[in-house]
Amino acid sequence: MNIYVDFDDCLCETARSFTEINRRLFGKHVPYEEVKFFNLKDSFRLNDEEYEKLMVEGHLSKTLLSYEETPNASAVLNDLMDQGHSVSVITGRPDSTYEDSRRWLDEHGLSRAKLYFLNKYGRDTFYQNGSFNLELEDFYKMHFDYAIEDSPLAFQYFENFPDLKVMVFDRPWNQDCDLPANYLRCKNWKQIQTEINNQGQ
Ligand SMILES: [Mg+2]
Repeated sequence: MNIYVDFDDCLCETARSFTEINRRLFGKHVPYEEVKFFNLKDSFRLNDEEYEKLMVEGHLSKTLLSYEETPNASAVLNDLMDQGHSVSVITGRPDSTYEDSRRWLDEHGLSRAKLYFLNKYGRDTFYQNGSFNLELEDFYKMHFDYAIEDSPLAFQYFENFPDLKVMVFDRPWNQDCDLPANYLRCKNWKQIQTEINNQGQ
């Protein structure tokens, strides 16, 4: 089977790291549990200048490489790859983060996972024609059986994959979504593993 996995807040604890950056840079204390909007500008109540500083800090090499792994992400994905499944990490990060993102995966035992950059959020104005960049039309030609994603903004793309089973990684900012029948909210990677293994039988 082919498995789509989002990077931030599926493989690693990006939002938790951003809450610490927000506190360090601006003295604002917004705990992870209160990150109710995917847009951190809204969740942290930042002005444009603060938001830009937050994003710059969050995309530094030392920050990107320091993100904590979401518990069991690597172990479960390696188990799935050992069974012969294909794992593609498809991230909405800017493609300037390719080397650090690839390094993070490699350092966390995920060297076998493929890595692609897809402009999911319309944020990046400088996407290049690299081998790791996906245009939407190329993305839609791919085939996936499962998708693991936390962002409500990315769900729209899954309408193009009618047979896809979507696993919504449970996060404070996706609590209010009405999920279609082919979506399943998952609390952690162990649950994702159980679901995929049960379906495969
Ligand atoms: Mg994400």
